[in-house]
Amino acid sequence: MSSLRSVKIVATLGPSSNTPDTIRQLCLTGVDVFRLNFSHGSHEDHKQSVKNIRYAERMSGHPIAIMLDLQGPKLRIGTFENRIVPLQIHQKFQLDLDPTPGDNTRVYFGYPDILKSLVPGTDILIDDGKVLLQVDELHEDRLIATVRSGNEISDRKGVNLPSVCLYIDAMTPKDAEDLSFGLELGVDWVAVSFVQSADDIKRARAKVPNWIKIIAKIEKPLAIKNLNAIIEAADGIMVARGDLGVEVPLERVPGIQKQILQKCHYLGKPVIVATQMLDSMVTAPTPTRAEVSDVANAVYDGADAVMLSAESASGLHPVQSVHIMDRIIRQVESDPTYLEKLRSPFDANVCSAITSAVPCIVERSNISVIATLASSGTTVLRLSRERPNAPIIALTNNEHTARFLCLVWGIHALLVNDLTCVSIEDWVKTVRRIILREKMAPSGSYVLIVGGHSDFSTNFMTIVDL
Ligand code: PGA
Ligand code: MN
Repeated sequence: MSSLRSVKIVATLGPSSNTPDTIRQLCLTGVDVFRLNFSHGSHEDHKQSVKNIRYAERMSGHPIAIMLDLQGPKLRIGTFENRIVPLQIHQKFQLDLDPTPGDNTRVYFGYPDILKSLVPGTDILIDDGKVLLQVDELHEDRLIATVRSGNEISDRKGVNLPSVCLYIDAMTPKDAEDLSFGLELGVDWVAVSFVQSADDIKRARAKVPNWIKIIAKIEKPLAIKNLNAIIEAADGIMVARGDLGVEVPLERVPGIQKQILQKCHYLGKPVIVATQMLDSMVTAPTPTRAEVSDVANAVYDGADAVMLSAESASGLHPVQSVHIMDRIIRQVESDPTYLEKLRSPFDANVCSAITSAVPCIVERSNISVIATLASSGTTVLRLSRERPNAPIIALTNNEHTARFLCLVWGIHALLVNDLTCVSIEDWVKTVRRIILREKMAPSGSYVLIVGGHSDFSTNFMTIVDL
């Protein structure tokens, strides 16, 4: 069991990784959740990805989750004749309403209403802030700006206007179409971009079946203001540092990240730290020391999952990036101080009183695994929140539950068909039998079984030996 890792890896698929063979290698190297980024790629590409992932899932024998990441109201520039063009500091650059491919003097920016709401002096940040333009002149159909920083610009990069207050709905018509397409493909998680309030999550939830779990991406200043309500409304959170770091001053991102991790852990909601985690591996075979520290610190601070974006989607080393992440996480998990700091604060109700005793029982007896039966996953989330020092095996006959749990700290879901239990005795016998059959724990060790019956989702635990 020592090979089970608690913190999960999310990898974005893209042109560097979307082949059956690479997806299979990514699975073997440790990807738990694949992210389909609907800001890029055609429906046909995503359909192919789902097919490839489900094939790899069948081969691997354990559940794998698919996250559909909706583009949201992200502003983007158009394309260039040669995909990428150089820029020089102080040169003029034009954004306009002409959809033909751009060059090193201009590019398409198809938002007439937004052109109207800018003024000379407005900062325009492109490509997660790598390029900074400052508006000089505004016309009906174009603006002329000066390049203040950045040395290149390429196809369809994102645009942020941090000083401009725009009323935006988190779900665009494109998102609605992408969502219904994704639901047909059979995704497990849906990530909503540029969330600003809990209502954005509630509106998204109204559009999906009840087994679909919803991630709120925190990347707008208003989302930070409404953080508690958003965490309550969502099933999970993503610290989307790419846009966040341009929407708020860069130096605020680390503090905000820590605050989000702490709140999510307290409320028992899985949280992903995302963007630029191993960014230099887009081109280099090894990460910088600072990137290694970033991944390790996210894990030390309690992240359920860490995410790869360009590293696995369009980089040169997708599999190696996963391998490095896996090594960093395992190293932190082997540090005896890691879990001590992550014990969740006291929370008074019968169900969490039971699970809060679990870390202590694991530490004081020879418990090799914790096991539970999962239908909706409530007890499982509660167990994960306690960060016990033993793998948590969630037995379920519900495929949706098995897959959504792929994102959750410490949970190893096992899809089993023979799960019909009436009494608690039955229940305990079944769990013991399956743990033995699946060789999930060595014989002679103890299994701590936690579960619920009648009106409680969690109200008993027992120890059985193998
Ligand atoms: P994106 O989201 O990659 O869809 O922009 C993540 C982020 O903003 O960090
Ligand atoms: Mn984003």
